[in-house]
Amino acid sequence: MFEKILIANRGEIALRIQRACREMGIKTVVVHSEADRDAKYVRLADESVCIGPANPRESYLNMPAIIAAAEVTDAEAIHPGYGFLAENADFAERVEKSGFVFIGPRADTIRLMGDKVTAKKTMIEANVPVVPGSAGALPDDPEEIIRIARDIGYPVIVKASGGGGGRGMRVVFTEGALLNAVATTRAEAEAAFGNPDLYMEKYLQNPRHIEIQVLADGNGHAVWLGERDCSMQRRHQKVIEEAPAPGIPRKLIERIGDRCVDACRKLNYRGAGTFEFLYEDGEFYFIEMNTRIQVEHTITEMVTGIDLVQQQILIAAGEKFTLRQRDIQFKGHSIECRINAEDPFKFIPSPGHISKWHTPGGPGIRMDSHVFAGYTVPSNYDSMIGKLISYGETREQAIARMDIALSEMIVEGVKTNIPLHRELMQDPQFQSGSFSIHYLEEKLAKRP
Ligand code: ADP
Repeated sequence: MFEKILIANRGEIALRIQRACREMGIKTVVVHSEADRDAKYVRLADESVCIGPANPRESYLNMPAIIAAAEVTDAEAIHPGYGFLAENADFAERVEKSGFVFIGPRADTIRLMGDKVTAKKTMIEANVPVVPGSAGALPDDPEEIIRIARDIGYPVIVKASGGGGGRGMRVVFTEGALLNAVATTRAEAEAAFGNPDLYMEKYLQNPRHIEIQVLADGNGHAVWLGERDCSMQRRHQKVIEEAPAPGIPRKLIERIGDRCVDACRKLNYRGAGTFEFLYEDGEFYFIEMNTRIQVEHTITEMVTGIDLVQQQILIAAGEKFTLRQRDIQFKGHSIECRINAEDPFKFIPSPGHISKWHTPGGPGIRMDSHVFAGYTVPSNYDSMIGKLISYGETREQAIARMDIALSEMIVEGVKTNIPLHRELMQDPQFQSGSFSIHYLEEKLAKRP
């Protein structure tokens, strides 16, 4: 097992990885920007290295600085968390070339899945069902683009091959709007992701977002750890996640889980990963694969009792992978609310000094957050300041516990989206468990 791991991230996930390491008796090195000097996990780390100014390009995205930090501290492995460099194949490659272990898939797998066109192609070959759409990247010829859209049938969604984080996609309802939409998305994709390649899909009108968690050892052994329903979204970004997905027949979930495991075997996948699907009328359609730990991994941990971050570390260290599919048992229900420092209904970020911070507790409540009273939320990063997770024997109990926990939580000094989460816990449609990826936006649009 490793003696020392470098954590190349910040915020709640840096603390989450640190907790996993400490439990395993592994020393941690934390790298941080000037803005994160006083973070809790920095103080708790065995060693810390400041890698640059607040601007992520000069710190958390600064590959040479991170690798140099691993060198001076004699770390053996690097955990990239999520976001920043977690799905950067060049980083994974540089980490391994410098003699460290990258806690994640091999660089070529990250590259294959990071390009959504090659990812979809790979899934088709592995018999994973995908959203109907263009065969590969869109050509330049306008006539051809129009023909492809007609074949798919409107509405279509134009997506950037290198896109992520809910950015780089545009829905097109009519042929008249198509070529303009393609041109705009292409320009955006080039600017934001350095990759002008686009592809086109059928725009599903009423789907749910259902994803499958996998773990694989890189030697053809893989298991799936159930599903997560992430349909409560705003601007293609998840707000609430839950496991299991309410109302989907277990047979269908098991079938798609097995397909994902087959795909992992074919890919010789290594580490934790997530297959994301849209689900409509009893069918699953693959949209993308994330080759890293996800924000919402916590709810899978709650219903399986398996620590996914520790599993990532065990796999990266080459320990014998002992999990068998039959060992994975699902129990109860778990919900995660992403707590963001932002206006709850206008969604304007609200960074700043947190004067009061009181977190809830009690049976079935877990809080993953690096925040404390006196902490200042920097304006340079994502607005997520923590994750509140509830667990119950039933979905009703998980909702009730979440509702109570939200009512107990006190944050002063910055605005948070807790009022939105409280409304959603009381929302009859949410409580019914049947809502699509468009539900939240529609609900927000109706607000006075
Ligand atoms: P990203 O990598 O930016 O997260 P995804 O491909 O995972 O992009 O899609 C994010 C979200 O966008 C999905 O959860 C869904 O809400 C929406 N979306 C993506 N593709 C489609 C589609 N073909 N039809 C309808 N909605 C879609």
